[in-house]
Amino acid sequence: MKPFAYQRADDMSSAVATVAERPEASFLAGGTNLVDLMKMEVLTPELLVDVRHLVSHRIQDLPGGGLRIGAGVSNSELAADRRVRRGYPMLSQAILAGASYQLRNLATVGGNFLQRTRCMYFRDVTMPCNKREPGTGCSARDGQQRDLAILGASKLCVATHPSDMAVAMAALDAVIHTVGPAGERTVPVNRLYRFPSDGPERDTVLDRGELITAVEIPAAPIAAGSRYRKVRDRASYAFALVSVAAAIEVDDGAVRDVRIALGGVAHRPWRAITAERELLGRPATEESFRAAAEAELAAAWPLPGNAFKVPLARNTVVGMLRALTEEAR
Ligand SMILES: Cc1cc2nc3c(=O)[nH]c(=O)nc-3n(C[C@H](O)[C@H](O)[C@H](O)COP(=O)(O)OP(=O)(O)OC[C@H]3O[C@@H](n4cnc5c(N)ncnc54)[C@H](O)[C@@H]3O)c2cc1C
Ligand code: SF4
Repeated sequence: MKPFAYQRADDMSSAVATVAERPEASFLAGGTNLVDLMKMEVLTPELLVDVRHLVSHRIQDLPGGGLRIGAGVSNSELAADRRVRRGYPMLSQAILAGASYQLRNLATVGGNFLQRTRCMYFRDVTMPCNKREPGTGCSARDGQQRDLAILGASKLCVATHPSDMAVAMAALDAVIHTVGPAGERTVPVNRLYRFPSDGPERDTVLDRGELITAVEIPAAPIAAGSRYRKVRDRASYAFALVSVAAAIEVDDGAVRDVRIALGGVAHRPWRAITAERELLGRPATEESFRAAAEAELAAAWPLPGNAFKVPLARNTVVGMLRALTEEAR
């Protein structure tokens, strides 16, 4: 591991200014992703600016419903929060489907959003990788393809985004609050992550030195009956091959409202807008669920080694919606 300096920032503005001005500096929260990557020399920041004590560790009720979650809240605290378990079970289930107790105790909400891809070639400094070193090529396209993206990928990069929490946040229309060199702003989670087509080295739209301070989830009565399902190679300690966060509201046999987001299939949590539109007003039957999932996946662009993800994603969506509607009867 390369030597680095550690700085405990006194306030947000100095933390933001330091990381914005110094390309070799990086924010540090729980360190469960960043320090791992530093040990492998995938990332080699020379200065770590610790921000964990600067951002809020609180989960607050919003006026009119919804929650404001400080970026420093641990993954364990968020998953265990009574309001989250009751009002947004898909979020609690998504977090508990990831990592381990020990990691979730240390990992923060801000860091979870910004964890890097688990593409094995990104994590192996002996292999070319456009995300790690722009212009060197993509080893994954002709390599191990099992974990790669089927939607929204590009020839430059076919990696997937690894966060389970972010998939539920996408389905819930969560909005991130940040403070950066240009001041404060909000970014919907569904617009946070970039597609890899023009510069896979940048995962998100955030600027250098832009600090996530909190995330807000709007009130969503539909989410009270929601669920998260993660399909993976091992029952624990594995990233998603495909995951689905879903909620559905049925009125008189027809779909009145629906939320679907997929994980493990793209460079970002994939909000299934096409499937959602397809379902509104349709009979809440397995036939409609299948047609909607197929419409969403019509844009899939799989490689030979991950083509199985297309039927896997379709069947997981159908199974989830069927289970949710059967439960609600
Ligand atoms: C063995 C293992 C298994 C795992 N399994 C899963 C899994 O199945 N599913 C899953 O979703 N995750 C999994 N994870 C990943 C884990 O969820 C992340 O490592 C964790 O959420 C990162 O949070 P952190 O606070 O430790 O971030 P850090 O490692 O401290 O930071 C990660 C990145 O975010 C940046 N950052 C941190 N906080 C902020 C902020 N407030 N504003 C701006 N930038 C910030 C850092 O600069 C860094 O680039 C696993 C990790 C390990 C090690
Ligand atoms: S898929 Fe992306 S992260 Fe993986 S090797 Fe290719 S460029 Fe790198």
